[in-house]
Amino acid sequence: MMTVYLNGQFIPLEEARIPVLDRGFIFGDGVYEVIPVYSRSPFRLPEHLRRLQHSLDGIRMANPHSDSEWAQLIQQLVEQNEGEDQYLYLHITRGVAKRDHAFPSPPVPPTVFMMSSPFPAPPSALLRAGVCAVTADDNRWLRCDIKSIALLPNVLLRQIAVDADCAETLLLRADPNKPGTRFMTEGAASNIFAVSNGTLLAPPKDNLMLPGITYDVILEIARANDIPHEVRHISADEVFGADELLLTSSTKEVLPITRLDGQPVASGEPGPMFGRMHALYQEFKREVMRK
Ligand code: PLP
Repeated sequence: MMTVYLNGQFIPLEEARIPVLDRGFIFGDGVYEVIPVYSRSPFRLPEHLRRLQHSLDGIRMANPHSDSEWAQLIQQLVEQNEGEDQYLYLHITRGVAKRDHAFPSPPVPPTVFMMSSPFPAPPSALLRAGVCAVTADDNRWLRCDIKSIALLPNVLLRQIAVDADCAETLLLRADPNKPGTRFMTEGAASNIFAVSNGTLLAPPKDNLMLPGITYDVILEIARANDIPHEVRHISADEVFGADELLLTSSTKEVLPITRLDGQPVASGEPGPMFGRMHALYQEFKREVMRK
C-alpha cells in the first residue's frame, strides 16, 4: 500500500482526493519535481529544491515550505513507503478556486501532493543494447526551463516514440539565427548529450530546455575526470552524425541511444563515452550515499 502526502496529511493513496476545481486539474496550473531516493536518502535534494523554487518563481507562486520543511516532509514520506531506492514525485498547484484564468485574488492555499514509488532501475538489457529514439519538431512553449505540470506537448511528443516502439523522442527546434537549420534541445522527458570525436557535447541550459539535475551531474563528472566537453548548441546534422548519443534523467540515469529514426547511431552499439559515464555515475552515487 502506498502512503502519499496531501496538504499536511500522510494518507493511503486510495484515500487521496482533489476537488475538481483544483487549478492543476482545470488549467495544468502548477509545477512538479521528481527526486530519486537512494538508500532512503534523497539524491541532490538542495539542487531539486532550487529548481522547484525556479519553477515556482516562473509561475509567480509562493513556495509553501522552506527547504528544511521540504526535507522533513520528504524524509517522512520515504520512511513510510517501500523500497530502499525510490523515486519521489512532488506536485504543487495554485489551489482550488472558481474557474477563471486569472490568479485567485486573494490567493487560495496551494495544493501540495507527494508520492513515492520503488525506483525503476534501468534494466541491464537496455544498458547493454541501448535504446532507440526518434526525432520530432520541438513545438513546445518558450519556458521549457519551468517544470510545469502542463505536460500535454511532452505527452504527445513522447507518444511518437512509443508508437515507433522506441524509448524517447529527441526534440529539434528551428534555429532563428540560421534559417533552414534545427538544433537539439532535449528529449520529451530527458536531456540528451551527443559525442563527437571523443568530446561530450551538451546543449546550453536556457529557456528551451529543462535544467536537468542529472545533466548537471554528468557535466560535473566530465569536469572532475578531464573528459573533453563543450556546452553549446548541437545542430541536427551533428545529432545525426554523432558517434554516440546519451539520454539522462533522474529515473533513467544514463542510457545509450543506439538507433535514431530507424538508423544505427554510428556502430549501433553503446560507445566508450557511455561506458565511462555510466560507471562514473554509479561511482558518484555510491560516493554521495556514503556521506
Ligand atoms: N527534460 C525534461 C523535459 C524532463 O521531463 C526531464 C525529467 O523528467 C529531464 C529533462 C531530466 O531532468 P532530471 O535529470 O532532473 O530528471
